[in-house]
Amino acid sequence: MAGSTSDRTADVLVVGGGPAGSSCAFWLADAGWDVVVVEKKRFPRDKTCGDGLTPRSVRQLQDMGLGAALEGAHRYDGLRSCAYGRVLELPWPEHPSFPSHGYVITRHDLDQLVAERAAKAGATVLQGTEAVEPVVDAPSTAGAAAATGRLPRCTGAVVRDSATGATSTVRARYVVLADGANSRLGRALGTSRNREWPLGLALRGYYRSPRHDDTFIESHLDIRDGSGAVVPGYGWIFPLGDGRVNVGVGVLSAEGRWRGVNTSRLMDAFVAQAPSSWGLSPEASCGPPTGGKLPMGLAVGPRVGPTILTVGDAAGSVNPFNGEGIAYGYETGRLAASVLGRALAGEGDGALDDYERRLQQSYGLYYRVARDFVRLISHPRLMQVCVATGMRSRPLMAMLLRIMANLLRPDEMGMAESAYAALAAVARVGPGT
Ligand SMILES: Cc1cc2nc3c(=O)[nH]c(=O)nc-3n(C[C@H](O)[C@H](O)[C@H](O)COP(=O)(O)OP(=O)(O)OC[C@H]3O[C@@H](n4cnc5c(N)ncnc54)[C@H](O)[C@@H]3O)c2cc1C
Repeated sequence: MAGSTSDRTADVLVVGGGPAGSSCAFWLADAGWDVVVVEKKRFPRDKTCGDGLTPRSVRQLQDMGLGAALEGAHRYDGLRSCAYGRVLELPWPEHPSFPSHGYVITRHDLDQLVAERAAKAGATVLQGTEAVEPVVDAPSTAGAAAATGRLPRCTGAVVRDSATGATSTVRARYVVLADGANSRLGRALGTSRNREWPLGLALRGYYRSPRHDDTFIESHLDIRDGSGAVVPGYGWIFPLGDGRVNVGVGVLSAEGRWRGVNTSRLMDAFVAQAPSSWGLSPEASCGPPTGGKLPMGLAVGPRVGPTILTVGDAAGSVNPFNGEGIAYGYETGRLAASVLGRALAGEGDGALDDYERRLQQSYGLYYRVARDFVRLISHPRLMQVCVATGMRSRPLMAMLLRIMANLLRPDEMGMAESAYAALAAVARVGPGT
């Protein structure tokens, strides 16, 4: 992995070296294409995250040949759900396409691993290199992109070396935007988030804990704000196995509710209320918490232009059911790489239109159901009733885990698959927002 100063050309320029960008670069390079990734930070670098890898993420990492590299990370077996004095331990369900375990690994370590894997496959990864301006035929605005439903033609970016300040240009036949939740470049090209749809807001910090090597991740579904009211979202404790746990709170904002919620106060309250066996306290804190937004349910668009695709958080690909974004970064990056491979192999720019179709096939209906679910639970009373009911029934919570982690079986019609089919039928005839 290198630094940058001179102009370059490539088949594909990928902006951002997080999960979505590095996965896209890996799959393109693995197929033999000339790909340049620009990443504004230098690896290893921190990224605010819960650091939780579900079976969906593990599958993608295994597919990239990183199964053995993950063995050094903390492996866990399932989710412990806690609310209203009840505790349920739910192992990851069995699935023909996914493993039945996950890992907790800091993004500091994980993102370096995947970026290095992309470089090993042949991608040129330019670290400390920020894309500051897209190379476009004509400037676009959010209004213009929204009106046409297309991003403008983009054939590269002006990039700046963060050490020297020197700028240069990377030109490419195709550009992939993987610049994360803030997606400055995406907004410059005309992407915007549908503000009617739910948004996640989350805060996390590291704590030293005697239970750092617990084999379950833990989520608390009854977190409360300063006034003691239950808030739609959850608190988590994810054991890292290195003496620390990742502790956080996430809130779902829908229909204008909970936008103003003070996540710092919520976090302090959660740390104070967490089971004492975790040993969480201000003294055990490894530093101040940091927060971020989770653009979810494919709320950010447009995602396709004649020569450009957006992936990961830049496309709003986080799962609204559980706030998981790493797996969807890997998956959308891989999907973009497969479409671009076809375009480069001779199909031409028209192949890019297939990206949106395939996104809708994979996630469209599922995310519609998830958005409806988030709208429902953003009503505190309903949220309380749902959680309290669920916590009385292990089969119900196991079913919900399968639905919410997107681990429904394609080959069997169990309880979760039947319940999801019913929810999907309702979402299909709903207003379609
Ligand atoms: C508090 C919190 C907790 C979370 N917990 C989890 C969790 O436990 N599990 C999970 O699956 N998901 C979690 N998520 C979501 C997850 O972090 C994101 O969905 C995921 O990081 C998205 O990957 P990405 O590659 O799209 O974007 P990012 O990971 O944000 O990567 C974008 C990269 O682009 C770089 N970049 C940005 N702009 C430029 C530019 N102009 N030029 C060059 N480089 C640029 C950035 O430096 C960054 O490295 C959490 C999110 C938050 C905020």
